[in-house]
Amino acid sequence: MIKIQLDEDTKQDIMDMHWKDMSHKQTGLYKSLQNSSCKTVLKSRSCYEVLYNYFYNLSGNVIEQNVKKLVLANKSQMEEYIVKLGKFNKTESDELQKYAFRYDKFAGRQSAYNILKKMKVNVCPYCNRQYTFTLENNSMRPQFDHFYPKSLYPYLAVSIFNLIPSCSICNQAKSSLDTYKEPILYPYEDEFGETAKFAVDTEDIKSFLGIGENFQLSINYSESHSATQEKIKKQNNVLHLEKMYNMHKDYVCDITLNQYINSDDRVNEILLKFPDLFDSKEDVLSVLHMNDIRKDNWGKRPLSKLTHDILKKTK
Ligand SMILES: [Zn+2]
Repeated sequence: MIKIQLDEDTKQDIMDMHWKDMSHKQTGLYKSLQNSSCKTVLKSRSCYEVLYNYFYNLSGNVIEQNVKKLVLANKSQMEEYIVKLGKFNKTESDELQKYAFRYDKFAGRQSAYNILKKMKVNVCPYCNRQYTFTLENNSMRPQFDHFYPKSLYPYLAVSIFNLIPSCSICNQAKSSLDTYKEPILYPYEDEFGETAKFAVDTEDIKSFLGIGENFQLSINYSESHSATQEKIKKQNNVLHLEKMYNMHKDYVCDITLNQYINSDDRVNEILLKFPDLFDSKEDVLSVLHMNDIRKDNWGKRPLSKLTHDILKKTK
């Protein structure tokens, strides 16, 4: 729903941190692949032949560059890996995650926390409903959703851009949806943006003024048909977004009532009266609604996209 904002420097830092962890002598994928039991498993079964040939040279040594490419792959590169390395069944996937692609180990390591602190994804990018803070003392952090599920594509289990910091509800709801076959928005690149907007469907004046809940909240699309729209519809289906957002009707009522009380004139008056505090009407509205409706900041507060869309729509 909301794109994860990472500038190029931050992205590079994250890649450096992840490779440092993955190539460490005592941890990471590189270490697992060097282990003789891992090598034996990959070599012994024909279903792993393509994987074995990718990771080891003719002398049986790990090809470091290929490990690095895999763990730092972007979305299109991950899709190339899916075409090249294929899909695995549950037994195979469990075995591969046990011997090689140890997400369970990564998830508990300091590096996972450090990367999350660097990313600063403070609200779930899938739903924009739940906070996903990472505490400094490592006692709390968001879950990592595997965008391409590790149960189907286990070799992407520790690829950093396959890991989406998210709330547990979205992570659980998305589960093992095969996003390669049935794509949803990829939060490092995609977003609802202006393609999909929340809207209130009602002709009831009380609901319109925010003092009644006789309305439905729906997701409307600005384009009649597009690949993005199909992804959003899939995401809505899988994560039950429309239904979940209809649980926030009380919040929508507060937005519309607040907007009714604070007319355009009043907003302008506040802007003129406090020139040192506010640069724009959007700044004033953000404070009045205790949210941040500026597009670049949608990822900072829960329900910011909803607040933005309702405010624009009912203006
Ligand atoms: Zn979520």
